[in-house]
Amino acid sequence: MSGFVFSEKPIEIARGEDVWLYDTNGNEYLDFGASYACTPVGHCHPDVVDAATSQLEDLMYVQASYPHAARTALYEQLADTAPVDVDNVWLCNSGTEANEAALKFARHATGREKIIATKQGFHGRTMGALATTWKGKYKQGFEPLAGGVEFVDYGDIDAMREAVDDETAAVIIEPLQGEGGINPVSTEYLQAVRVATATSGAAMILDEIQTGLGRTGSMWAADGHDVVPDVLTTAKGLGSGLPIGATLCRDWIAENCGNHGSTFSGGPVVSAAAGATLDVLEREELPAHAAEMGTYLREEIDERLGDEIREVRGDGLMIGIEVKRGSNRLLRELAIEHGILALPAGRTVLRLLPPLTIDRDHADAVVDAIEEVIA
Ligand SMILES: *Cc1c(COP(=O)(O)O)cnc(C)c1O
Repeated sequence: MSGFVFSEKPIEIARGEDVWLYDTNGNEYLDFGASYACTPVGHCHPDVVDAATSQLEDLMYVQASYPHAARTALYEQLADTAPVDVDNVWLCNSGTEANEAALKFARHATGREKIIATKQGFHGRTMGALATTWKGKYKQGFEPLAGGVEFVDYGDIDAMREAVDDETAAVIIEPLQGEGGINPVSTEYLQAVRVATATSGAAMILDEIQTGLGRTGSMWAADGHDVVPDVLTTAKGLGSGLPIGATLCRDWIAENCGNHGSTFSGGPVVSAAAGATLDVLEREELPAHAAEMGTYLREEIDERLGDEIREVRGDGLMIGIEVKRGSNRLLRELAIEHGILALPAGRTVLRLLPPLTIDRDHADAVVDAIEEVIA
């Protein structure tokens, strides 16, 4: 039964290096989904591999009640890169757990129940996070989930202002919806969410699990929109593929967050990998590079494929191409005929989330290939 939940792809991967994956038959693939945004600094970056392996030899695990250097350093690094004052760090093992903690902390700190989420939003698959996820197919047969969740239209300022009241514990929101189809919103909207939550005393939880770590052209999408949330969640690429997530909070949440815990919180090996990943992102100035490469890619796609597609959208290296028919055949042909791995986001959107280390040659190769499979 192992792996029964997953429909496996017909390619068996043996090795990864930077933007490349190699299968067991010796074929190479340009990984333009970064394996679901999990390899922002590329596959098997030598600094991350070194940090994780040397940590593995020194100390593989110690119970979370004892501090160790890798976790302490990561707390500081995350606090340093986080939006100002969002500097209390809770570490866990995945995105859904980071959001689960965020929702618990917000309920405890406010003493309120109601949670507002957005249509088309995705926040994970545990009972609490799943309750704030929009799509019915993820919930079918699992209800009842956590109660008190209300959904509003994404991007609608009036709907948000109306929904947030003095019974609201939190608004949980992606600054750019990923899973839901790469749906951007304006800075004005996110700032209005900020004002509405601050006014009512609710927590603004910004889910940056897909947008964070430089992907949208700044370290956090929050920075790009000049919004400081009360809670910011990250995971996916944080450990370059090793399982780690984080919930970053302002003092008023952290000081009254209730009783929470996890055996593996901030384990030595994943903490070392995450610390090295953040080092590489900063040293190689990958957020700025993502902004530049993203603009280039979107302009090339628009110029060369404008007539064949409905729209190209996104920020930095989080790009959605809305195609005129289903994206499944395109994805299969890109992989099999062109050695390019991309992702869907719903039925009609081709999603690109490449490692932030790509160069123009990689971008050109991908646009050439998309042009061919769409023609
Ligand atoms: C992937 C994702 C999650 C869930 O993360 P997991 O590690 O799969 O639990 C939550 N929110 C967003 C925005 C995501 O992209």
